[in-house]
Amino acid sequence: MVFGVASEDSIAWAISKKLGDAGCKLYLGYQKRFMSRVFQLKDKLPQIKGFYPIDVENDMTTEEFFIEFKKENPGLKIDIIIHAIGFAPRECFDRHILFVNDDAINKAITISSNSLQRIMRHAMPFLNSNSSTITLTYAAANRYVPNYGVMSIAKAALETWTRELACQLGPEGHRLNAISSGPIKTIAAGGIPGFEKILDHVEENSPLRRNVNQDDVAGCTLWLASDLSSGVTGQCIHVDAGYSSTMVPSSIMGDK
Ligand code: NAD
Repeated sequence: MVFGVASEDSIAWAISKKLGDAGCKLYLGYQKRFMSRVFQLKDKLPQIKGFYPIDVENDMTTEEFFIEFKKENPGLKIDIIIHAIGFAPRECFDRHILFVNDDAINKAITISSNSLQRIMRHAMPFLNSNSSTITLTYAAANRYVPNYGVMSIAKAALETWTRELACQLGPEGHRLNAISSGPIKTIAAGGIPGFEKILDHVEENSPLRRNVNQDDVAGCTLWLASDLSSGVTGQCIHVDAGYSSTMVPSSIMGDK
């Protein structure tokens, strides 16, 4: 079950293709405003067996999503959940962080963090006992990144939800992990002021001297979704060309 496909650039789309190639049947949750794009995409991946609207800001629609899923697929169980959802209102990026209002902060955290808990709650009756859930986070959860603002707080909360849910649901065999992706050009990333400069900086200074792409993240997701990672839960794994392992940027030394 994949939440977060909005376009061909979505990390969730690369993940869907990777999971489909590995033999998964896919069920997508899409946001209505991206409906026409998702409808075009679904024809490119025959492994997509169902797709239903969801707006995680409104818990009713999450419930309705699973009601629809059950109606169309009676008795079907879920092995893998991909949570690739993130959003913050414009003012979270445009205003000084001191003056972002509560409504905007709460909306960002409800959609980008608490939605993991909401989806898990509604998914529980449908989950096979050895299920694997993967969410997507960003390094700003732990270290300051300019302009990321309220989303940093949302990602910190998301990583905490991941650990909390992994510990609470682990006794029933469910695994939850987060992938902290390096910056990738997508619709969501387009909302972050100065994003291109971050891409350039990572390319220049990451150990692999490149940015990661959607396929890099999808590969790690497939591993976390599979039994190859059966002993891994509650973790945050960085897929970022090694950038998070560095402290002082190599570029300050100039060319050697
Ligand atoms: P994207 O814009 O393709 O995906 C974001 C998804 O969130 C979209 O599918 C959108 O429909 C969904 N979404 C937003 N609000 C929603 C709501 N109310 N209800 C349901 N769905 C909603 O961008 P992406 O970069 O592929 O983002 C996927 C995830 O990866 C996000 O959590 C993002 O924060 C995370 N991430 C992205 C980067 C990056 O640089 N692109 C880096 C690290 C982490």
